[in-house]
Amino acid sequence: MKQLTRADYNGYKESLKEIERIHQSGKRPTLCMHVCCAVCSCWPLEFLKDFDVTIYYTNSNIYPSEEYWRRLNELKQFLKEVHPEVKLVEAKYDNEAYTQKISVLKDEPEKGKRCIMCYGLRMNEAYRYANEHHFDYFTTVMTVSRQKDSKVLNHIGLQLSHQYPNTKYFISDFKKADGNIKTNRIASSLGMYRQDYCGCIYSYLQRHSTDQ
Ligand code: SF4
Repeated sequence: MKQLTRADYNGYKESLKEIERIHQSGKRPTLCMHVCCAVCSCWPLEFLKDFDVTIYYTNSNIYPSEEYWRRLNELKQFLKEVHPEVKLVEAKYDNEAYTQKISVLKDEPEKGKRCIMCYGLRMNEAYRYANEHHFDYFTTVMTVSRQKDSKVLNHIGLQLSHQYPNTKYFISDFKKADGNIKTNRIASSLGMYRQDYCGCIYSYLQRHSTDQ
């Protein structure tokens, strides 16, 4: 099969093709999904209704710790009320070690090299878990965000898939076909907490410096 490269595919169409293949197989596959927050998971969980989904929550990027627990607790509440069938696995939270790793790129602008490193670190940890537990698929919810380039995320996922052969990477572009609008609509209807910065200390400081 021709290997997909960064520029020659449409993530949304690829996701629909994969779902069509699954329908034809008559199976309900398992899928491990990296989730960054409850708001971003609203539409992807609807989109992935044909999968048996487990969320892997690995977001040591989030600063400060109060914010980390707030986002995680919001996700837990959402799953309890709306998706009780979805399992949640929590990774260890260690913002200090995480910040140390990304600090080499602390002066990068948002969406730059620091963010690409940050996507890769979290996706790698979640993908490793998926592979060790023999999930059929792995994906990340982050392609629903307008702030994140789905092609970059899918490129990282496809590269990681070479290391993790038990689990296929599910290419996605959840923001397409109004996915971003849908996820925001669901979150608003539930009165969900919505953060105003991405997560790491650098995005936190930048957000607060523009408040002055
Ligand atoms: S801005 Fe967001 S994606 Fe970029 S490094 Fe910070 S937490 Fe990670």
